[in-house]
Amino acid sequence: MSDLPEIGIRKSANLARLGLYTVRDLLSYYPRDHIDYARQVNIQELTAGETVTIVATVKRCNCFTTPKNNKLTILEVLLRDQTGQIKISRFFAGTRYTSRAWQESFKRRYPNGSIVAACGLVKESKYGLTLEDPELEVLGHPGDTIESLMIGRIVPVYPLTEGVGADLVRQAVIAALPSTVHLKDTLPSGLRDKYNLMELKEAIHNIHFPPDSDNLQAARRRLVFDEFFYLQLGLLQRQQKAKETQTSAILAPKGQLLEKFSEILPFKLTNAQQRVINEILNDLEKPAPMNRLVQGDVGSGKTVVAVVAILAALQSGYQAALMAPTEVLAEQHYRKLVSWFNLLHLPVELLTGSTKLAKRRQIHAQLETGELPLLVGTHALIQDPVNFQRLGLVVIDEQHRFGVEQRARLQQKGEQPHVLTMTATPIPRTLALTIHGDLDVSQIDELPPGRQKIQTTVLMGQQRSHAYELIRREIAQGRQAYVVLPLVEESEKLDLRSAVEEHKKLQESIFPEFQVGLLHGRMSSAEKDEAITKFRDNETQILVSTTVVEVGVDVPNATVMLIENAERFGLSQLHQLRGRVGRGAAKSYCLLLSSSKSSDAQQRLRVLEQSQDGFFISEMDMRFRGPGQVLGTRQSGVPDFTLASLVEDEEVLILARQAAEKVIEIDATLERWYLMKEELKYRYERLMGGAILT
Ligand code: ADP
Ligand code: MG
Repeated sequence: MSDLPEIGIRKSANLARLGLYTVRDLLSYYPRDHIDYARQVNIQELTAGETVTIVATVKRCNCFTTPKNNKLTILEVLLRDQTGQIKISRFFAGTRYTSRAWQESFKRRYPNGSIVAACGLVKESKYGLTLEDPELEVLGHPGDTIESLMIGRIVPVYPLTEGVGADLVRQAVIAALPSTVHLKDTLPSGLRDKYNLMELKEAIHNIHFPPDSDNLQAARRRLVFDEFFYLQLGLLQRQQKAKETQTSAILAPKGQLLEKFSEILPFKLTNAQQRVINEILNDLEKPAPMNRLVQGDVGSGKTVVAVVAILAALQSGYQAALMAPTEVLAEQHYRKLVSWFNLLHLPVELLTGSTKLAKRRQIHAQLETGELPLLVGTHALIQDPVNFQRLGLVVIDEQHRFGVEQRARLQQKGEQPHVLTMTATPIPRTLALTIHGDLDVSQIDELPPGRQKIQTTVLMGQQRSHAYELIRREIAQGRQAYVVLPLVEESEKLDLRSAVEEHKKLQESIFPEFQVGLLHGRMSSAEKDEAITKFRDNETQILVSTTVVEVGVDVPNATVMLIENAERFGLSQLHQLRGRVGRGAAKSYCLLLSSSKSSDAQQRLRVLEQSQDGFFISEMDMRFRGPGQVLGTRQSGVPDFTLASLVEDEEVLILARQAAEKVIEIDATLERWYLMKEELKYRYERLMGGAILT
């Protein structure tokens, strides 16, 4: 980089502090914003409430630490243009800024007579109008004229770090731009034409220094397309490779077990269930390993679908494993499976962290001989001594709660077993394509008949008594209620205390006439079991719980779900919790108590009042909280796009996916597109490396 004109060794060293080592780094160091100096405003024209840029001369600059609060340092700059003057302030919190040296250095950056751009929100203050904590940037030094500088054009704003100024990055980018003459576009022109994409060189010029906002938009669109396209290409190529291995068990879609099962099934499958089952059976008949994700709302009936797949494996002489994220859920599955498997005269066992050693040994032995065809369990399933004789199918429930590695380890228990993953937490389409772009996805988008809407209401903290009245009324009619408290992962102890305290309060002072149960993550498995059993048998009418109740607990007689501090949960998680009620014939209620007065939090919660559609809810959740939050903390894997946004750029993502599919269809090796292949390799190691493409 130090070869660039006017960028010597010292400047290169500074740029390195931003992670910029090569010309390519620099060219792809996209601005985080642009300031449109063409639309700058005169000081006289300022109106409160608008976000503006003014360009003016520094008349005076002052920097001091407030005597009242000696941790707050204020930089005051008096600016003047032809029309008037304005005093602006920037605030710096922290003791490091209180030093004399720091204050002096700051004043030196804005010497009298220098020309600066200030960008920010105009606010009314005691002393007249001001800009609230504006972006402040030196455009020129005393003696320069404003016209000679950036005025009248759109200027890039780069993410900076201390000691690396905006001037330096701009200068370096300007110096690097001519190198793009050697740059060949990695996308063939036919593809560019088809999707109306700006040529690469042009896009790079325009993303940094666009002549106008149309060009900026077109440049951004092209570069966003690239980010999505190469991710999809990598994912699809990987999927293609997996499909080329032809070593998986061939599992028959018809047979005795499946026939018998359809006879004992007490209900008719929904159309959606039948469609998804067909998709799965179709995969299982092929020697290429299935890798399918079934998304379906809470209660859409995913378990039966999984059982059909399992029976297909068993009737073809293979074993199957079903893994769930919690003991509660694993036990629920086990219970349901036992009832069906007894009728089919098939053995099934449960393996969790609390399975006794003798039982554990027996299970291990029976798996190795093949005597045991189906094992249900938690993470215990992937622990070492578990060896299957002929594992043909792996089913993972609530897959988003497992990491990539845990899923892989279960797969390694067999030779290329088919993999069926299930989730009741649908995620938005853009997110699904990004993190599951290499899976086949099936949707169960229909609920079994007769399900009622759950009446959902957001309540403020002081309306808690309304909630308690409703609970009392429902219990008087023989129903039951959940009270759920948030679990903040950082402080499990604190949560534990809050659950225990809440339980005490409800039992002793609010509902002394009822039995109140308690369920939380720190209880032993036997204690949990007991709490759930008592609630199921209506020995306790109210169950106070942390979010361990979120998945699996199935008590149709419960009709009220009261969630405390609902604003602390994601919408999808609230939707999951809500799914614990409305499982029987009676009308059910979900009450979301919020202690937050923020209107954002309120608005977010109201989404649940309006919708019962898991897909819609997750979409809204992503809009409010961003893609990473929607997935929760357990699953990483949203790549760090530089420009692309999963919220704003859905249209481009869909096109990029289409384009990538077409390319893979024509030639998955990419041999005929050398530049594209190289680009994929380059990006593969950076953006997509690690979590996504392991
Ligand atoms: P989830 O998709 O949340 O895992 P489950 O598989 O637990 O849902 O099913 C929820 C409930 O609906 C269960 O009690 C199940 O037996 C029942 N069920 C599943 N499919 C049907 C159907 N087609 N008709 C009626 N009830 C069904
Ligand atoms: Mg389920």
